[in-house]
Amino acid sequence: VDNHWIKTTCAFCGVGCGIEARVKNNKVIVRGDKQHPANFGRLCSKGMALGETVIEQGRLLQPQIEGQTTHWDTALTTIADTFQNIIDEYGPEAIAFYLSGQLLTEDYYVANKLMKGFIGSPNIDTNSRLCMSSSVAGHKRAFGSDTVPGCYEDLEKAELIIITGSNLAWCHPVLYQRISAAKQLNNTLKVVLIDPRRTFTTQIADLHLAIQPGTDVLLFNGLLHYLEKVNKLNYEFINNHTEGFTAALHVATTETIDHEQLATILGVSPHVLTQFYQWFAEIDNVVTLYSQGINQSSCGTDKVNSIINCHLATGKIGKPGCGPFSLTGQPNAMGGREVGGMANTLAAHLEFNNPHHHELLSQFWQTQRLVKQPGLKAIELFDAIATGKIKAVWIMATNPVVSLPNTKLVETALQACPFVVVSDCMMETDTNQYANIRLPAASWGEKSGTVTNSERRISRQRSLKKPSGEAKPDWWIITEVAKKMGFNQAFNFKNEVEIFKEYAQLTAYKNNGSRDLDLSAFKHLTDDEYNNLAPIQWPVTFSNQLTPNQLTKNKRFFDDGQFYTPSKKAQFIAVQFKPPASKVNTNFPFILNTGRIRDQWHTMTRTSLAPRLSTHIPEPFINIHPVDAYKQQIINFELARITSSQGTVIARACISEEVKPGQVFMPIHWTHVLSSNGQIGKLINSHVDPLSGQPESKFTPVTLSPW
Ligand code: SF4
Repeated sequence: VDNHWIKTTCAFCGVGCGIEARVKNNKVIVRGDKQHPANFGRLCSKGMALGETVIEQGRLLQPQIEGQTTHWDTALTTIADTFQNIIDEYGPEAIAFYLSGQLLTEDYYVANKLMKGFIGSPNIDTNSRLCMSSSVAGHKRAFGSDTVPGCYEDLEKAELIIITGSNLAWCHPVLYQRISAAKQLNNTLKVVLIDPRRTFTTQIADLHLAIQPGTDVLLFNGLLHYLEKVNKLNYEFINNHTEGFTAALHVATTETIDHEQLATILGVSPHVLTQFYQWFAEIDNVVTLYSQGINQSSCGTDKVNSIINCHLATGKIGKPGCGPFSLTGQPNAMGGREVGGMANTLAAHLEFNNPHHHELLSQFWQTQRLVKQPGLKAIELFDAIATGKIKAVWIMATNPVVSLPNTKLVETALQACPFVVVSDCMMETDTNQYANIRLPAASWGEKSGTVTNSERRISRQRSLKKPSGEAKPDWWIITEVAKKMGFNQAFNFKNEVEIFKEYAQLTAYKNNGSRDLDLSAFKHLTDDEYNNLAPIQWPVTFSNQLTPNQLTKNKRFFDDGQFYTPSKKAQFIAVQFKPPASKVNTNFPFILNTGRIRDQWHTMTRTSLAPRLSTHIPEPFINIHPVDAYKQQIINFELARITSSQGTVIARACISEEVKPGQVFMPIHWTHVLSSNGQIGKLINSHVDPLSGQPESKFTPVTLSPW
């Protein structure tokens, strides 16, 4: 491996940047991959520092049972036997898996196959529930499938880019760089930012709508109403390719009759609101990028559909430079969606509510045990652990004790759970202190497989070095447990290529291309072709021959006006504005908003290993508006206490007009291990979107006081 650059992908966000890496003098060096269509050589600060995080410090190097080092065989046999005993006594639904968008697609596929297909429990969910499950639900309602219509090159073809619910500059930095570059080349390109905060992303915005948190549905319903008023609806598209328009317009119109009043509720000036609406109405090529500010809400699915409604009403979808575009947070949240890593989905975009799909998957996996009903979504799943309904949980590549809302309940649940297995690269995380069995997982740079980014592009992640200690790839760990449970034949995979091929075959199995996710061209992939696979967007069908040119070509869904609903027409959803589940009151008068910072990732288990990433922002902080700080007698850079109905956190006060009066902001990253008082999950309650199950992490009533 020494002295050779190996093409792989970044371990962090859903942009999915291509990286070239090599090992030199036992160190990993990285640079941007100029050929990768996601980033064309660009990397952000986190990607640049990735090599520095490939170190042995802090790694979990051997399997452990109750804190004592053991052999792999003993650990795996104990897991298989304990699962079987629990199944015998309480039934399969007493077992749960909690996965992660950090896993590779092959890992995700075998975990889902084992749980839903062979253990026979639907209780497998993932931290992607916290990330994009509202987008999944919104896509399915509108398109009949979880299909992201667009691709990154639309950013260079758009004339108006709307960024809503995203601090793109810090959370998807390379896409921010692409838009900045596009603006320099095209001075007519306009950017509208919709975000309650004045973030770094405002630097590329021609217009900033700092709307009141939670009012997104009203904003986009107002847009739909405006489009009708100014006669900018595309009736040809509406009549030929959609259903439900009249009801959606009726709700939107009823809610937003008075423009001035609407602007007041949204907290923006009527002039700014009109400008945004005018640009959407008059500019042909419009992309709406949206992320967690939309998804992490008790009405996240409605927010997604309110955006899609406006694109359908104007036919701004399925064309170059057009479309609603959800940005996934994690490197492989999309891969997880594809192979059914969520409690309410089956593999390869097959659906629970379709008996034909159930039969097809049972046949393909040759199993009688395939579950018939969706399982518990993340919040419900940890509730069920707390109440004792679930007796065993296997957590892989994620740190729910920090990342889930109401972390006190998560801790209590894991403490009370009779059997907790954790697979992780790191020895000390907030979660694995509750593990009966700890399994050392191979890390980025040590494992091999595929990931799918926000634009549906499948890229290879390649190993650069042997795993540290006795660490093993997640797919290997899962299949070994499966074999020890007696499912040898179904899990007899020699390597990740065989898993990927089986997944590709499933996408085309008796399917005749009737669904969106089709990888039929990969059915007979050889090991060499897999190893050398260049980044490619799905679908990858037989007609899409694997020539070098076509490997990087972009597929735009819905360019024929056909969708995946029974009628082949897209569905307008009549979405009514609902306020956030919690309300501010005299005890908790401020709204807490949460998000990422530029140089950290998730719960910092990896990014904290690169010292330079901690120089940007070294500790947890609370952004407070100067007026609120004065009223609460809080002094800049001193410690402040922030309290919700769930708990209290202490962090450094950063007084700033980036937040509006009445609103505060805190980053999500700090854990108990890293900062005993800055763990934000202690504050967030467990309100979820009723359709998607995604928690409302962007709206928590809190109060402030000096420490
Ligand atoms: Fe990695 Fe995302 Fe940065 Fe690209 S933008 S280098 S994928 S963290």
